[in-house]
Amino acid sequence: MTRPASTSATSTSTTSSNDTGVPRRGTLIIGNCQAGVQLASSLRDLGDTEPIVLVGEESHAPYQRPPLSKAFLKGEVTADSLTFRTHEFYADHQIELVTRERIVEIERDAHGGVAVAESGRRFGFARLALTTGAVPRQIPFEGSELEGVSYLRTATDAALLEQGLLTATDVVVVGGGFIGLEVAAGARAAGKTVTVLEAAPRLVGRAVSEETSAFYLAAHTRRGTRVVLNAQVARFTGEHDRVTGVELADGSIIPADVVLIGVGVIPRTELAAQLGLDLDNGITVNSGALTSDGLTVAAGDCANLPNPSITAGGIERLRLESVQNAVEQAKIAAATLLGLPAEYSTVPWFWSDQADLKLQIAGLSGGHDRIVLRGDPDSEKFSVLYYRGGQIIAADCVNRPLDFIAVRSALHKGQQIDPDAAVDETMPLKKLVTDAPTPVLAAPAA
Ligand SMILES: Cc1cc2nc3c(=O)[nH]c(=O)nc-3n(C[C@H](O)[C@H](O)[C@H](O)COP(=O)(O)OP(=O)(O)OC[C@H]3O[C@@H](n4cnc5c(N)ncnc54)[C@H](O)[C@@H]3O)c2cc1C
Repeated sequence: MTRPASTSATSTSTTSSNDTGVPRRGTLIIGNCQAGVQLASSLRDLGDTEPIVLVGEESHAPYQRPPLSKAFLKGEVTADSLTFRTHEFYADHQIELVTRERIVEIERDAHGGVAVAESGRRFGFARLALTTGAVPRQIPFEGSELEGVSYLRTATDAALLEQGLLTATDVVVVGGGFIGLEVAAGARAAGKTVTVLEAAPRLVGRAVSEETSAFYLAAHTRRGTRVVLNAQVARFTGEHDRVTGVELADGSIIPADVVLIGVGVIPRTELAAQLGLDLDNGITVNSGALTSDGLTVAAGDCANLPNPSITAGGIERLRLESVQNAVEQAKIAAATLLGLPAEYSTVPWFWSDQADLKLQIAGLSGGHDRIVLRGDPDSEKFSVLYYRGGQIIAADCVNRPLDFIAVRSALHKGQQIDPDAAVDETMPLKKLVTDAPTPVLAAPAA
């Protein structure tokens, strides 16, 4: 992996833009959520004294998204309680927080540039960071515009969905990924009739093994949610501009007064495209979060990075949609902007809370050739351990936090967990961790 070496990325030029007179000083961070806030705060932690402007288009101060599909919808937390930092934090760290400004154009050269917002406001910079995140993938079905049909990405989306759920009887979730299943679990717990429509043959297919998918199917069904796999949505039906149902390709109609569409996200790359940066399912960055111009950094959901896992095979680059990635990558990006050596090499991890089921994933399971099941999925307390060439590379842990901690720690240290011994769920995994690779007795399945 190449180390960021560009000196121009660390420029502190104080020149002015020729045509506008806007000072080109300090760092401009576009996107003021998880990655953007971390980047700004890391710049200060690393001793940067130049101006920092953190700009975002949303009206809210930066906030955490994960609770939006969990505690917020259940009414356990308010939107205000989800903000990351107090206003004093931004003031004390001399971070200028700008909300309600959408950047639509950027001009830059090796010494900095100017970004222009939709309102016409201009932001000069010597260094530039893109933390523009992602937007929900839209599906263009007839009826998508009906009231009651929603997506979930922002606090505004969540507030609308919460309102709809208050009076809803029949809830349909299109998409059996993490966000869809979290919302489904919450709605079901609130006594709604809930149907999840998943186009693929299994739930959460992009992220977990068939064993974990099968578990989620059984667990949600046990809790009274109807799950339809291989479901082909044809259109949304409505009356008086309000959704009344979801029609499937076979003509059947599932009643709905609220529909949540959760079919993945698309990275926001429009500004990067305008700058001529390399794109490939996101903004292509190196392990130092540096983009192809050798000047701009990008971090979080918008960035496509080299696979940080030394053990997971098969995948060279990937985009990670998680808080942990946004935070880690933003720290690396801050160091790169300051010309400090930094390389993303941490083990990715992720969590999802669905009803009383806590899933924790450590590592990346891509390229696994063996699975070890630890515990009985029907007990709703089990782990799936993934191996490649006899070496542990990842784990899905459902209500088994100690397994998660043991695997995450072993992966961080490049250690091994004997797959044959790991089957015994009464044996704490941490006792099975060894430094030496465990000899592979049987050839792994192809
Ligand atoms: C409902 C929900 C639940 C989730 N649950 C989990 C979970 O349990 N665990 C987990 O690890 N992750 C979870 N995630 C994912 C996690 O929230 C994201 O990975 C994380 O927020 C990514 O941070 P980011 O800063 O890269 O992007 P974002 O949070 O998307 O922030 C990007 C910001 O940039 C702004 N922006 C974009 N373009 C412009 C522009 N041109 N001008 C101005 N502003 C712009 C956007 O408006 C946005 O506010 C969840 C996400 C959602 C939506």
